[in-house]
Amino acid sequence: MKNIAILGSTGSIGRNTLEVIRNFPGKLRAVALSANCNAGVLYAQIKEFNPGLVCLKEESAALKLEPRLKSTTLFFKGQRGLEEMVQDRRIDKVVLAITGSAALTVLLKAIESGKEVALANKEALVMAGNIIMRKASRSKAKIIPIDSEQSAIWQCLKNENGKKVRKIYLTASGGPFRGKSRQELKKISVKEALRHPKWRMGPKISVDSADLMNKGLEVLEAMHLFGVEAEKIKVLIHPQSIIHSMVEFEDGVILAQLSITDMRIPIQYALTYPERLDNGLAGVDFCEIGRLDFEEPDLRKFPCLGLAYRAAKESGTLPAVLNAANEICVEAFLSGVIKFVAIPGIIEKIMDSHKVILQPELDEILRADSWARGEACRAVNN
Ligand code: MG
Repeated sequence: MKNIAILGSTGSIGRNTLEVIRNFPGKLRAVALSANCNAGVLYAQIKEFNPGLVCLKEESAALKLEPRLKSTTLFFKGQRGLEEMVQDRRIDKVVLAITGSAALTVLLKAIESGKEVALANKEALVMAGNIIMRKASRSKAKIIPIDSEQSAIWQCLKNENGKKVRKIYLTASGGPFRGKSRQELKKISVKEALRHPKWRMGPKISVDSADLMNKGLEVLEAMHLFGVEAEKIKVLIHPQSIIHSMVEFEDGVILAQLSITDMRIPIQYALTYPERLDNGLAGVDFCEIGRLDFEEPDLRKFPCLGLAYRAAKESGTLPAVLNAANEICVEAFLSGVIKFVAIPGIIEKIMDSHKVILQPELDEILRADSWARGEACRAVNN
């Protein structure tokens, strides 16, 4: 029996994780659940899964939830509470499905206490990948990716020597606006940006997928997870989203991982690895699909991907700045303050005015993050 903590259990990845756990009651158990502010959904999950540990981040919602819990439930509040809960000895594996940079300190606590982490959050690795990977190797904490592309690369590399990698093909569906003209992109509404053709996801990652920033963050993430330079990672638009990524080795052989688009598949493998368990989900019907298409990403229409490559190349604190500015811009777009096409320009301006610190410590990364947030808030309100 594996005892699982799900941080961000009311979000899209969290709910899919609970569905996987529901599928394997003899193998997996949810022992800890956390949410940001959605007390209603969290309470329903508590009633069904009966976890011994619960955390609600938002304090006012937490005060209302606490009296409704059983006296045997250990209840935590706020960011500090979350950082404390994640280290509990009852937890074997942590599913980190919190969006944004808020996940960074929690991830570090999980790693320091030697937990295996199934990682869905990308922002933490983007901001502080070197520090995270160094700490993980020191505490022997394993990081297993949940993101479909990273899971695919990880599975392709599992039995190989990382040094023999010639290229990684990071596939992308292209998002809802693939093939749209620049003129059309100017009129994009929030609703359109949230309607992804292949995946149902939370609002932040849906917008990131629409302007290809998501793929850029994945490039930065893959660099750290697999120890590969950005120049070796090639983004490939693959609209059918059947190949979730590929690795080319030095002898010209390419391994790919394929499946239907269903997040429960990479989540399940991250939880049950090295076992592959029958989940009743369908395989790929190749004759039904007929063909698999590929094309180059259009960096002129989707500059965010180029900005992420620049951040990868210049490294240091620049990826954290890119990420922070992006988080603010996405929020501003979602609340109707800026247009969709304004996002890359604002991020680029902030990157231009940042003095990069190479090989930063954690506090320097956090300072760069909050500096970029301040700059981005000013820029979106202008
Ligand atoms: Mg992905």
